[in-house]
Amino acid sequence: MIARRPTSSVSVGSVQLGSSGPVVIQSMTKVPTTDVARCVRQIQRLVRAGCGLVRIAVPRRADTIAFGQIVQKVRVPLIADVHFSADRAVEAIEAGAAKVRLNPGNIKKQQDIFRIIDAAKMHRVAARIGVNEASIRDLKKAPVPPEKRTALMLEEMRSYIRLFEARGFDQIVLSAKSSDALRTIEVNRAIAETFGYPIHLGLTHAGLPADASIPSAVALGTLLAEGVGDTVRVSAAGDPVVETEIARAILICLGLLERTQPELIVCPTCGRTEIDVVKLAKRVESALRKVAKPCRVAVMGCIVNGPGEAADADIAVCAAREKAALYLHGRKIAVVPEAEIIPRLLGAIAQV
Ligand code: SF4
Repeated sequence: MIARRPTSSVSVGSVQLGSSGPVVIQSMTKVPTTDVARCVRQIQRLVRAGCGLVRIAVPRRADTIAFGQIVQKVRVPLIADVHFSADRAVEAIEAGAAKVRLNPGNIKKQQDIFRIIDAAKMHRVAARIGVNEASIRDLKKAPVPPEKRTALMLEEMRSYIRLFEARGFDQIVLSAKSSDALRTIEVNRAIAETFGYPIHLGLTHAGLPADASIPSAVALGTLLAEGVGDTVRVSAAGDPVVETEIARAILICLGLLERTQPELIVCPTCGRTEIDVVKLAKRVESALRKVAKPCRVAVMGCIVNGPGEAADADIAVCAAREKAALYLHGRKIAVVPEAEIIPRLLGAIAQV
């Protein structure tokens, strides 16, 4: 069990963020906010995939108007993603946002910040102070050496937090993002040591899903394993449901989220393999998609070492030429011809 770092508790609509609750997955819509119907459909897919919070960009007045319509059509708490404009932040708060994400790098005037804080207080809306490395660079208008960036991000965050605290506002979530996994780890460790507010973890511009998943798993996984992080977003180009699936996989891997579907283990194959294991594993994977039961299924490439190597699995398929031996909790229950592997496997899952 991972011991979470103690934090304050922040209400984001019906979701409690902080160490007293689970780590919450969030993602962003990626269709025009003014296309309310598509936005709502994407939000519903994200919720089905496991998102507990959804963020929406509101760059123009038309977007905050649409945001207000979307809020009425979904039950998940929505976060307004605001850059540059205090007006957009206040409009989104009044339109029903559960949280606003603000970037200290681009909303700088104290009177603007106070206006947002006052609106958030009045409407009981949380705020994420979301620093990112690129904005720090822009702010300084000069190259900032890498070794100074963590300190600058922290300094920027601290000065913003002071304004919120001076105004008596504590419903704060913090984030500091970079596209660099090591910097993300470093800056979030520093935030966790310095402040007691919940932390939102993520990398910026992490890449296409295949490229995004490894740095995200490394950075988010390292921090979460240390107990740091109360909500996560995996950034990847493309369908946000894929981001949610990657985030789920990270949390499940760390025991921070319960598995609801089978886990598939496949042996790496070697010179003993007599069948096409990858082809068989893909057939098994496709059959398991319809199974809503947490169990461990192993597909092994031989009947010599396969049973021993799959001893931890609930069910093991140890394949040989044109047949496979099925094991249930380490005990051989059948030897079946290739065509019967999938139906017999599904039958065995029912016994787990
Ligand atoms: S289970 Fe058999 S085929 Fe697969 S890696 Fe181990 S020894 Fe090789």
